[in-house]
Amino acid sequence: MTDCVFCKIINNAIPSTKVYEDDQILAFRDIAPAAPTHILVIPKRHIASMAEITPADSALIGHIFAKIADIARDEGIADGFRIASNCGKSAGQTVFHLHFHIIGGRDLSLTIG
Ligand code: AMP
Ligand code: ZN
Repeated sequence: MTDCVFCKIINNAIPSTKVYEDDQILAFRDIAPAAPTHILVIPKRHIASMAEITPADSALIGHIFAKIADIARDEGIADGFRIASNCGKSAGQTVFHLHFHIIGGRDLSLTIG
């Protein structure tokens, strides 16, 4: 999608600090981190949000979560991290390309939203 900021990151039209990349997914550091570790994991195929996931995406979503576990280990936060995905404007989604926030490196126990 030409006007999508995350598609531009995938295509290297916008710079990012990449953490992991393969043919299906990309992980990069959030530009406005909410915690010492704040990484976004995205599919390379443009999917607007969680609301658009279908059974045909099962392998892709499984792959994303397996890599999330690897990244959490590599970042040293495997003992405590949170995955968040805002779906829709009223949930706070600002970039309409599916992404999973990996947040960790500080005490998250008192926050739920
Ligand atoms: P959300 O509000 O859940 O849609 O999350 C979008 C996230 O993308 C926010 O945490 C932003 O800080 C982050 N973000 C937006 N533009 C960039 C960018 N160019 N590089 C890295 N992260 C970005
Ligand atoms: Zn996109």
